[in-house]
Amino acid sequence: MHFELSERGQDYLARVKAFMRDHIEPIEADFWRDVQALNPDGNWRNWQHPPVLEALKAKAKAQDLWNLWMPDAELGAGLSIAEYAHIAEQTGRSLMAPTVFNCNAPDTGNMEVLWRYGSETQKAQWLTPLLAGEIRSVFCMTEPEVASSDATNMQATAIVEGDEIVLNGRKWWSSGIGDPHCKIAIFMAHTPNAEASRHGQHSMVLVPLDTPGVEVQRMLPVFGDFDAPHGHGEVTFTDVRVPVANFIGGPGQGFSIAQGRLGPGRIHHCMRCIGAAEKALELMIDRGLARTAFGKPLLNLGGNRERIAEARIAIDQARLLTLYAAWKMDAVGTFAAMTEISAIKVVAPNVLQMVVDMAIQLHGGAGVSRDTPLTAFFAQARSLRLADGPDEVHKGVIAKIEIAKRDFKS
Ligand SMILES: Cc1cc2nc3c(=O)[nH]c(=O)nc-3n(C[C@H](O)[C@H](O)[C@H](O)COP(=O)(O)OP(=O)(O)OC[C@H]3O[C@@H](n4cnc5c(N)ncnc54)[C@H](O)[C@@H]3O)c2cc1C
Repeated sequence: MHFELSERGQDYLARVKAFMRDHIEPIEADFWRDVQALNPDGNWRNWQHPPVLEALKAKAKAQDLWNLWMPDAELGAGLSIAEYAHIAEQTGRSLMAPTVFNCNAPDTGNMEVLWRYGSETQKAQWLTPLLAGEIRSVFCMTEPEVASSDATNMQATAIVEGDEIVLNGRKWWSSGIGDPHCKIAIFMAHTPNAEASRHGQHSMVLVPLDTPGVEVQRMLPVFGDFDAPHGHGEVTFTDVRVPVANFIGGPGQGFSIAQGRLGPGRIHHCMRCIGAAEKALELMIDRGLARTAFGKPLLNLGGNRERIAEARIAIDQARLLTLYAAWKMDAVGTFAAMTEISAIKVVAPNVLQMVVDMAIQLHGGAGVSRDTPLTAFFAQARSLRLADGPDEVHKGVIAKIEIAKRDFKS
């Protein structure tokens, strides 16, 4: 195992850092103030992005800092998973940078699905505009009525009738569906098949959001924040009809595609958590040195210096584990790295949550205001401990693999 970046990787990383320093950091606080002013409530039909976002995207594209996550060098940067991991850490320091570089969830995961499993027609229609950053997408799997951490519980259906698929179901936490540019959903649903295994009965289907029968019912706030203009929707699909050609990979392929989608995506999420934790630690140190109480800088009071050390140790452990998982995925593939992928999915959001909590505490009241990115980082960490599988499910995967090593089945 080695973490040395190729020349190409080093070049991209240096240019991403420079772009963030010169074009994103100076305007980020104003950008989020504008986002709040433009999108004051959950009335998502009126949501919009500040115009500077498109200008920044164009600048990033012109500098070849675009689709950095994409392993295919003709469609994006062509970096390995481990190389892109370093870039994801940098973009994670900012809440807007991933979108500026067309590297934001859930679009990267959805693009990866289309790139790996989509037909040529599906790619031309949906992958091309997604890669260009012209449209956005949403992944609709979780359902309000059932415990969705066990995806086989899914009640939504995708049934073939002649040359059409008929879709029915209610989904929620459909992230990104409030974006004014969101045009396409990947809908995951049960396609009953008595001859298929339990994991061979679910399908992914492409559904244009303007198809009759698709209704966004509401946006769900996260700790009271609608995350506008991105949004997390509750959406119903009632007798929605799309052509059979809209199956991705074919009926019953949903679970195997989902595994492929989530592996690289977890590295991206975890490295962004590590970048956010680094940013929180920097803010904590700056604040702790700049303010004085009881005759001393806050940092020199109580156990605050120890907390700095604990944060550093935890962040570095999480980074090493995540880079190891990325290296293993590059070297031997996603399925051979299941333990590591599940491990980082538990570790990185928990480390971010711990570090942000320390930083909030040292900021006093300012820590829970919106004057810093800390509350958004906290919501990110806490949500990620649920999204893409709760912590407990990932620990269950690790335990199962460990027990199997002792020749037991569980
Ligand atoms: C901000 C946010 C964004 C999201 N974005 C998306 C999205 O874009 N698309 C999408 O489809 N979904 C999305 N989700 C949904 C997310 O993936 C689900 O919330 C998650 O899979 C858990 O499903 P559930 O909410 O039904 O919880 P449940 O399945 O009801 O689980 C609740 C709790 O039960 C416990 N539990 C479950 N299984 C086990 C176990 N094996 N062992 C021990 N305890 C267990 C855990 O404590 C778990 O948190 C998002 C969620 C959030 C919060």
